[in-house]
Amino acid sequence: MSYACEICERTYHEKFNLDRHIPYCRFLHLSKRDRDNQVETESEPVPEPRMLYRWMQDMALKIEKLEKENAQLRGVARKQQKEDVGTVLRQHCPTQSFAAWISASVLTAIPRYLETVYQKDLLSGMAELISACVSSSTGENLPIRAFVHKPSEFYIYEKAKTDSVGEGSSTSSVTMVWRQIRAEDLNQWFALIESHFQTGFRDHWVIPNMDKMNGNDEAVSQRYVLYYQKILGNGRMTTDTRYQKLRVHLYGLIKQKI
Ligand SMILES: [Zn+2]
Repeated sequence: MSYACEICERTYHEKFNLDRHIPYCRFLHLSKRDRDNQVETESEPVPEPRMLYRWMQDMALKIEKLEKENAQLRGVARKQQKEDVGTVLRQHCPTQSFAAWISASVLTAIPRYLETVYQKDLLSGMAELISACVSSSTGENLPIRAFVHKPSEFYIYEKAKTDSVGEGSSTSSVTMVWRQIRAEDLNQWFALIESHFQTGFRDHWVIPNMDKMNGNDEAVSQRYVLYYQKILGNGRMTTDTRYQKLRVHLYGLIKQKI
């Protein structure tokens, strides 16, 4: 890979060398009008090296100051973004916690996705389940959120225990809050959902087919082994990889702009 100057076509192996070259090259190839103006200053005496050195020191100081200010501004922008996330979250208060949503909407839908696992694999079944549950909750009411500028950061709505001191007596009340979780914190929820795929397999396939398996129905027994492997997520993909793919999938479904 080489980097070419657009003005003189000279090439460099390193981009930083090209970056250093460009301003000087631009100066050497000034337009005619600029060059004519340049003549005006040619009668000026060339500064002494010591003066030049002072001037450069002065310039270095100015650059340093600009860099510091720039870093500060970026910090302010980041802080603003954080506050904006807080504002957006506070504007939307779902009717149920994330845990309640998982129990009421996600776990109950699992029987409909068992067949996907048997035919494809556990990842496909989980991904289809999550897609369906996210799209059937209206965006306003979804108790999990993520934002475009913050990949792999999720916010879930949950009960927060706060102690409030009343008049003379101390009472503890439950309020709902949005809490930021680490991406890996979703793994325990994926694990919970997967365990329900296993019980779903038992209730909706193993028990109904028990007689056939006990009656030595070879085809059914073979299917049992195959489906059981699939439900457990056995295969070349590790659990970590599956969870990571599910996180990316979920993020893609729910990410929103500020
Ligand atoms: Zn050049």
